[in-house]
Amino acid sequence: MSSPCIGCGVILNDLDGPTHGYMESSPACWSTYSEVLAREYSDRALFERVHRLTVDSYAAQHPGRASAQSIQSVAGHLMSLCAVLEDGASSEWATKVIREAVRIKGRFTWLQPPRSMGSITVVNVWRAKGPAEHEKRVRDWASSVWAAWSQHHSTIRFWLSSVGGSITAPNYRIRRLRLSRLLLVQESRHPSPRIISTLASLHDRPFTEQRLRR
Ligand SMILES: [Zn+2]
Repeated sequence: MSSPCIGCGVILNDLDGPTHGYMESSPACWSTYSEVLAREYSDRALFERVHRLTVDSYAAQHPGRASAQSIQSVAGHLMSLCAVLEDGASSEWATKVIREAVRIKGRFTWLQPPRSMGSITVVNVWRAKGPAEHEKRVRDWASSVWAAWSQHHSTIRFWLSSVGGSITAPNYRIRRLRLSRLLLVQESRHPSPRIISTLASLHDRPFTEQRLRR
């Protein structure tokens, strides 16, 4: 018998086996992912080129349910995807984003997962013949997953601007400029003391798009 994965939707033959605690998937999908990871761990060059994207794509495609851990995981991995795909950030810097997201846990909100997670899954990567094809398929997969979450892109970009601004790294200046631009928009629309206090509490309350519209 075969059944669809609860996360990415890929249909695979049923398998008895483990799955992740909150990145919900079918055992067969999780097993396929484990094999893809093993391939990357055994090829240092491949690992350095795409491992960040592989982990982020799988996590974003298997968001699970609204729990504190899932909220944090989805936020962190989507911010990482955004940083690498849209800003050309290094995987090292994107990893710092995730670490920072973990450090400031409790400040993100649950993003309702899209109905479709895109047409590319970890199985497409698993079927690659050789490192070059593996790399290309991971990149296509990451782009597809990121596009699937398009309804939340503005929220994720805002979170990334906020989180990235507190990381000292080559991209820091870019993040800081982005955040400044957001704040300037707010100030010009609402030049009141109330807004100033909202900005001051930016790092003390959950980030929401609503705040941008105040
Ligand atoms: Zn899956």
